[in-house]
Amino acid sequence: MASSLFLPSPPLPTTNIRPRNPLFSSSFSFRSRSVRPFLQLRASAALDSPTLASANPSAPPRNPTPSLPFRVGHGFDLHRLEPNLPLIVGGVHIPHTRGCDAHSDGDVLFHCVVDAILGALGLPDIGQIFPDSDPKWRGAASSVFMKEAVRLMHEAGYELGNLDATLILQKPKLSPHKEAIRANLCDLLGADPSVVNLKAKTHEKVDSLGENRSIAAHTVVLLMRK
Ligand SMILES: [Zn+2]
Repeated sequence: MASSLFLPSPPLPTTNIRPRNPLFSSSFSFRSRSVRPFLQLRASAALDSPTLASANPSAPPRNPTPSLPFRVGHGFDLHRLEPNLPLIVGGVHIPHTRGCDAHSDGDVLFHCVVDAILGALGLPDIGQIFPDSDPKWRGAASSVFMKEAVRLMHEAGYELGNLDATLILQKPKLSPHKEAIRANLCDLLGADPSVVNLKAKTHEKVDSLGENRSIAAHTVVLLMRK
């Protein structure tokens, strides 16, 4: 059903669909090979949909998707913490007895910021664009994913309005590293610190997060049309 959000009814040829959504404008191209097939699949599946084909012909035509001046996105990520692995949060190495078990560097904050931006753009999530089955991303610095998400955001004609992120981990305390993490976020996002907010909290010693066996993060972004 999500695909219908991108398509008018009755279905039109692909070339007529693109201008209805800024993300499909002719100037918008994907460098990531894994994104394009996904979008083409989504569009062609909708065009072939028997549901659309058998839609009530007397129903009034739907309004095309408006070109929104703002877009909201939410990201969430969680990683297991295992002994003797590096703990990297927001591009900062945090001294700790445990670190993230992940295909890349396991930066839970950057991952959920990327997902928030991709979500706001209506794109597939980080796991689909940078699949952990691809050896290219093994041990990769997650700043690479951030730069690609920001590139896609700019290419779609948007810039960051503001970002609010919450890190959840029982220990160690993040307060000594908070400003360094925020500075990294600002650099990668090309954003002023006044629009990048970062919070950290414990999980009250409850569940894997509270027992120092995992780390999680939530992020909400507001994107503004340039
Ligand atoms: Zn992750």
